[in-house]
Amino acid sequence: MLYGIISDIHGNLEALETVINKLKEVDKIVCVGDIVGYGPNPNECVEKIRELNIPSVGGNHEKAVTQEFSMENFNSRAKQAVLWTQKVIAPENLEYLKQLPLILEEDGFELVHGSLNSPLEQYIYSIPDSILTFQAMTKPLCFTGHTHKPLFVALKKDGNYDGRLLQDDDELLVDDYEKIIINVGSVGQPRDKDPRASYGIYDSKTSLFGMHRVAYDISKVQEKMQQAQLPQPLIDRLSFGR
Ligand code: ZN
Repeated sequence: MLYGIISDIHGNLEALETVINKLKEVDKIVCVGDIVGYGPNPNECVEKIRELNIPSVGGNHEKAVTQEFSMENFNSRAKQAVLWTQKVIAPENLEYLKQLPLILEEDGFELVHGSLNSPLEQYIYSIPDSILTFQAMTKPLCFTGHTHKPLFVALKKDGNYDGRLLQDDDELLVDDYEKIIINVGSVGQPRDKDPRASYGIYDSKTSLFGMHRVAYDISKVQEKMQQAQLPQPLIDRLSFGR
């Protein structure tokens, strides 16, 4: 089965539509959370995910919007964006966000926004960050999001660890590793200095994972964010991917 893996859309409809367009040949798309927050089109993004029957886990932004998760660790701009999203989100979309699970299982892999031991909070950037998740994994592969930086961390068959940032067209063979955590980066707000939307394609038959980037109409999103009076630094960062 060929999977498209997307994460951290953050209300960026232009980026989401561009990525979905690139995933026409996959059998199934799955989402690693944060469909909303930061961007100007939370309703349209949720509706697109629902319309295409894309299974998704909940991220910290969804669960902040639904008030199931405290915003105490959010910076002021993220908080402003959550408050704005709470104002505009349609009741049926809010109900959808409420029922999103924190962990999902698919054919040969798991999905969680942050980490398996702390689904809404922990950021996996390094080998030490990933140890508890390796211990909790029930399958050899786990996709995470949350950091907005594409990377992998792996436990090798010889017991050593491996990992690095991932760029456009990088490939990994999941079967080469005992356990592997892959972060596919962010569709709607990349933070690795590459402003292009990020997504992954995973073939569960061959165990081949590929990382991909695609340019989208950033200025159109920025115009909508201006109109919605979202914080200026959130608008500016899309141009730089950080
Ligand atoms: Zn996020």
